[in-house]
Amino acid sequence: MKFNPANNIQDLQYFGEFGGVNPSISDSSTYTFLSAKTMFDTFEGNADGCYLYSRHTSPSNLYLGEALAAMEGTETANVSASGMGAITPVLLQLCKSGDHIVSSRTIYGGTYAFLKNFIPRFNIETSFVDITKLDLVEAAITPTTKVLYCEAVSNPLLEVADIAALSKLAKKYNLQLVVDNTFSPLSIAPAKLGADIVIHSLTKFINGASDTVGGVVCASQAFIDQLRNVNDGAGMLLGSTMDSLRAASVLKNLRTLHIRIKLHSTNAMYLAKMFEADGLKTVYPGLPSHPSHKVFKNMMNVDYGFGGMLTIDVGSIDKANDLMELMQQKNLGYLAVSLGFYKTLFSAPGTSTSSEIPEDEQAAMGLTDGLIRFSVGLDNDIQRTYTIMRECMEELGILNPILS
Ligand code: PLP
Repeated sequence: MKFNPANNIQDLQYFGEFGGVNPSISDSSTYTFLSAKTMFDTFEGNADGCYLYSRHTSPSNLYLGEALAAMEGTETANVSASGMGAITPVLLQLCKSGDHIVSSRTIYGGTYAFLKNFIPRFNIETSFVDITKLDLVEAAITPTTKVLYCEAVSNPLLEVADIAALSKLAKKYNLQLVVDNTFSPLSIAPAKLGADIVIHSLTKFINGASDTVGGVVCASQAFIDQLRNVNDGAGMLLGSTMDSLRAASVLKNLRTLHIRIKLHSTNAMYLAKMFEADGLKTVYPGLPSHPSHKVFKNMMNVDYGFGGMLTIDVGSIDKANDLMELMQQKNLGYLAVSLGFYKTLFSAPGTSTSSEIPEDEQAAMGLTDGLIRFSVGLDNDIQRTYTIMRECMEELGILNPILS
């Protein structure tokens, strides 16, 4: 049967302790035991169904984790306090001193900074490559490489990773393929295409309310057990635990993800087509002009579209800033980083979310000054939005008025 991530979420049944339709929220950091032996066994991870301390795990966090594992088609999952709180323990768990990582060069600025500036302190080096060029990826692999890291759809350039092909490479060299799927939940299911570990910043589309940060690692039971190991688990020992109240709230928002993603995708596709027809340099994986349009199409769960993220290039940072300020004045969205909100969010990645990447490297990867990243919102009338956006661009001389 076709893999359908939203059905998998919907098919889960949880009840509260009084028959509530939502699971009860575990409002405790610690748990009592009737016997000291069971407490010891729980600490050692051998007492199924028992809880010890909420940094280890809590019922609410397990519920959310199981729903996200069902969405990604992995055995299980571990939720964390942020996306970075998911990414960093995974990499530290997989690599030890002397190991090497091959990473896409276009990734979220925080992940880039971690790989480039932080993890070398532990003698773990990273080679950054154009992930769409499989020959370059393969050439970067060395005998010490342990991890192949990428984003399914990259932040901010929307490059698309061919996950099945990367998985073949990973298997050939015995690497772990780690995929950050933050930009393309539901649309792409990396584990089904061969990824070993799938990560999300829940802060974005999955929670969708811009009211919290959160993260998740979806993987095999064996790997999640390693992450949670009390003696040497990076998840456990670095302590990036999600709070139970938040886990319960993210779980409730997750249930409408499929509806939201469909509208984010429809609206983004509409704007992308219109912007491209207007002659703006537009990047959206749903456009046939996108260099990896076919790769995305071959991987996608068609029901959910090509996602809510697009970029345009308006030529200079000044024009980009003027346009974003004007669009905000006209209430078309907010000049803000992040993504997946009901309102459209726009930012210039070169000076915000990717500012950790040095200017020369930004230039080499095609991250230009005038680039605006849009997280397209859930606008009820996207035609109206487009018309006003176009007026803003005409007012600023980015587009010429249409002569009727
Ligand atoms: N991965 C991607 C693709 C992101 O865009 C971000 C944040 O912008 C992160 C990870 C980090 O997530 P968080 O901010 O929840 O730590």
